[in-house]
This record gives sequence, C-alpha cells and structure tokens, in this order.
Amino acid sequence: MSSPPTDPQAQVLELRRQLQSLLDAAHANERKLDRFDALEHRLIAVGSMEELVNLLLVECRTDFGLDAAELWLLDPDGELSRALPSLPTAKAPRLLDSHAPLKDLFGAARVTRLVGPGHDEAVVAKAFGERTLVRSAALLPLIRQGLLIGSLHFGSRDPERYDATSGTKFLERLSAIAAVTIESMLNRERLRRAGMTDGLTGVHNRRYFDHRSLIEFSQAVRHRYPLACLFLDIDHFKAINDGHGHLVGDEVLRQVGGLILRSLRTGDLAARYGGEEFVVLLPRTDLAGAREVAERIRMTVQDAPFVSPEGGTVSATLSAGLAMLPAGAVSFAELLSAADRALYSAKRAGRNRTVSADDAEKINAAPAATP
Ligand code: GH3
Ligand code: MG
Ligand code: MG
Repeated sequence: MSSPPTDPQAQVLELRRQLQSLLDAAHANERKLDRFDALEHRLIAVGSMEELVNLLLVECRTDFGLDAAELWLLDPDGELSRALPSLPTAKAPRLLDSHAPLKDLFGAARVTRLVGPGHDEAVVAKAFGERTLVRSAALLPLIRQGLLIGSLHFGSRDPERYDATSGTKFLERLSAIAAVTIESMLNRERLRRAGMTDGLTGVHNRRYFDHRSLIEFSQAVRHRYPLACLFLDIDHFKAINDGHGHLVGDEVLRQVGGLILRSLRTGDLAARYGGEEFVVLLPRTDLAGAREVAERIRMTVQDAPFVSPEGGTVSATLSAGLAMLPAGAVSFAELLSAADRALYSAKRAGRNRTVSADDAEKINAAPAATP
C-alpha cells in the first residue's frame, strides 16, 4: 500500500477517489440486487415447467452474462421426464435417476459452492462436463422440505467471476425460490394430469375427451384430412363381474386400457367413455387404416390372458364400432353417434368383431344373431 499524500489538495483528491470507488461498488451492488429482484419476480410468476426451465437456463445466462447454466433435477420415477416437453439439449434439465451425482457435488453439506481455479477444478468438470470452457462456477443446491431435489449451476469462462471468498447471499435466496417454484410447477402438473386421466385405467377421462375431440374434429374439417372414430365396448362384461367379482372386472378394464394405449400412435387419442366403453380418435387415418387399428386392438384383447389379482387368468373380448369423417358427419356428435350405432351393430351381429358405419346399415337390416 502507498502511504497517504501529505499535501492537503492531494489528500482531498485521494478521498474523492476513495469515495467514488465506494459509490461505484454500491451502484454495482444495487444493479446486481435489481437483476436478482427482477429474476425472482419472474420465477414466482412462471406458468409452466417449460417456461421455468427456459428462465433458469436461457434467460439467466443472458441477464447475468454467464457462459453456461445447468439444471439438474432428481427424477427417480421418471415423472419429470413424462411431464416435461422434449426440449433441445441446451435448454433441457438433466434428469437424475439417483442421488449419486448430487452427493458427488455437495456431499453432506448441501450448501452453495463457489468453485474455480485452484479450488475444486475437478468439481467444475463434474458440473459442466469434461470439455467445458467454464473456469469458475456457482453450484446451488435446490432443497425442498429438507430434501435435495436438484441443483442449479452458473458458470463463467472468467476464472475470477466466482471467487471462493465472494458472498453467496443472493445466490442462496435465488436457489430457495427456484426450488419452491420447481416444486409448485410439479404439483400443478400432477393436478393437471389427475384432472385429465381416468384413475383406474390411466387413459384420458371423458371430460378431457369432450374437450380434445372438438379440437380434433375442427382441425380435420379445416385441413380436410380423414378422422376415424372407434367405439370399443367389452363384451358381456357384466358376466365377468358376476362370475369373478368386481375386482377382477376392474383389473380387466385396467389391462384393456393399457392394451388400447399400446396399439396407438402419438397423436391418436383414447379415452374411457363410460363403464366398460372406450373411445379412440385417429386423425389422418382412412377407413382401411382405422379398421386395421380396431382389429389389432380386438385381437390383442381376445388373445390376452387377463391376470386376476389372485393370480388366475380370465379371458375377455370386445366389439368395435367405426365411423369416418368425411362421411356425411357435419358435427362431432354425429360422428360419435355413427360409431356408437356401428358398435350396436357389432353386438347384434355376434360381438368380438369390428363393424364400420357402412356395414352397420346392412347388419341392422338382417335378423340379430344370439351368441
Ligand atoms: P355387452 O356385451 O352387450 O356390452 O354386455 P355387457 O355385460 O358388457 O354390458 P352391460 O352394459 O350390460 O354391463 C356393463 C357392466 O359394466 C355393468 C357395470 O356394472 C360394469 N361396470 C361399469 N363400470 C365398471 C367398473 O369401473 N368396474 C367394474 N368392475 N365394472 C364396471
Ligand atoms: Mg359391454
Ligand atoms: Mg357398455
């Protein structure tokens, strides 16, 4: 350190310089606080998991002049991987199926770590990958209700950006808010799913179907592509309930739901319409294609040994009614009721078969079969 000047004018100048540098530091801190403040407000206001991930991984980088940002989230049951839309790798969180990578970064301490040259360079490589250009980083543990649920990593090429002696108060606050937001987004997603799916079979429920089907219908009309509608109903289901009990009936329903879902492509829509009735919409599928799907489902169900909770097996069959747009249907309700009438014909013709709306007219004119 140089000794203070003795000349009074030089002393004043030196004091002014010191005062200016204090003011500059205060302004820099204020700007930093403003940036953190703005980020916190936006975090609290996010509306979806996708928006949240984008804020933490993309916008944070720009706002804070970072070279890298990573989000790791614990996902042992694959719940997050189902809830998150597929995002490009640079914008996607890394989903962990075990605690091990987090333990590797934070050990038992689970507190914010500032790492850089000379202090834990190996950790930087763990947090950002072996080939990273990051030279210093802040690693923030995300903790909810005492559990480590993930981590947020901010990295810079500047070796001095995150110095082991820098303060971490702002970062700790940010990670606490990020953790709360992530948890609330997950809960919201869980609720949304619960409201759309049938608890027993895992396929969509009637409420969701009523909403989605109108969108599918109007898109098919607007873009003039075919839309197939299948009504599927388990045959003599009452007899399964009566003969084996309701629990076995439930199990058959659950497994039929799973078989239907596995027979469909992405973009197709399946829902439990009522008790033992399912409805399926196949956009951009013609009559031959739809008949193929219906027959595939019918035969899979026919061949499936349904396992009862006691370990025995039960067999079941289903009937399918099929109607197409375009085929004169001017509303979705008409398409649905044409498929329902075709299903009725399939039942009349002896069950365990697929009948299209066209065939239905001929069948209904003939005397009923009685299997
Ligand atoms: P069909 O071949 O004509 O369709 O005869 P079915 O016996 O399948 O038809 P029916 O409409 O007579 O009976 C349907 C039965 O499905 C009656 C109802 O108790 C049963 N059911 C409806 N929902 C459930 C459910 O969630 N679980 C169980 N176990 N049974 C259900
Ligand atoms: Mg039935
Ligand atoms: Mg029925």
